[in-house]
Amino acid sequence: AQPGNAQLEVSGISVTFDGFRAINNLSFAIGPAELRAVIGPNGAGKTTFMDIVTGKTRPDEGRVLWGETHQNLLKMNEAQIARAGIGRKFQKPTVFEDQSVTENLMMALKANRSPFSVLVWKAGAKDRARVEEIAAQVGLGDHLPRKAGELSHGQKQWLEIGMLLAQEPRLLLVDEPAAGMTLAEREQTTALLVELAKTRAVVVVEHDMEFVRRLNCKVTVLHEGSVLAEGTLDHVTADQRVIEVYLGR
Ligand code: ADP
Repeated sequence: AQPGNAQLEVSGISVTFDGFRAINNLSFAIGPAELRAVIGPNGAGKTTFMDIVTGKTRPDEGRVLWGETHQNLLKMNEAQIARAGIGRKFQKPTVFEDQSVTENLMMALKANRSPFSVLVWKAGAKDRARVEEIAAQVGLGDHLPRKAGELSHGQKQWLEIGMLLAQEPRLLLVDEPAAGMTLAEREQTTALLVELAKTRAVVVVEHDMEFVRRLNCKVTVLHEGSVLAEGTLDHVTADQRVIEVYLGR
């Protein structure tokens, strides 16, 4: 992303836990319609970075600016940040297993309303149409009446992405989306993430290099809480420092 038109712009953030610098002067920017893979060895700071963006962890220093108006996310709590348009998909799906795909998506739509309108909220034709649209987008258009508990692991992951889409996020943070998926599911997930990133920013934290290669996007390599390298996968994997971090110890 060019400076000035980033959807999210993080500069110079640091976090220390009990004297240990988990994030060290990290800067990161992503455009409003960009797919980005964030990789790095265990302990590199990937989770802590996402915790900071979503307001779960406060940095000791640095800036986190959001959207065209450069809203200061460090002044907002987790709920406010989610409402401002940042959605996070954790690795483990947390769908309601006893509820149908439709009901899960409806609940997500409902949760998107303000606490006051929820009291009087009743699903209308528009909401049902939106649920069907989201289901189709995440590849569950033929599974609306099915209980979420009956879905495959991959389908549950897509349902959860659909539930996040109900919040109309401008940035999606996705943690290891391909973990545990079949090859066919991984291919569909790649296509879904590429599609979603046409109209919003998508950050994918991933360990699986084969999956990162399929995403065919810019890669940010984190190491010891900082950005070690950034560029195409071929560029970063040819970087001697990256090779050392992954293979050298
Ligand atoms: P990654 O997600 O890349 O594996 P993390 O962000 O989970 O890395 O962790 C970065 C470093 O910060 C690790 O060394 C981890 O042990 C440490 N860390 C993370 N959270 C805490 C915490 N709440 N208290 C103490 N140390 C933490």
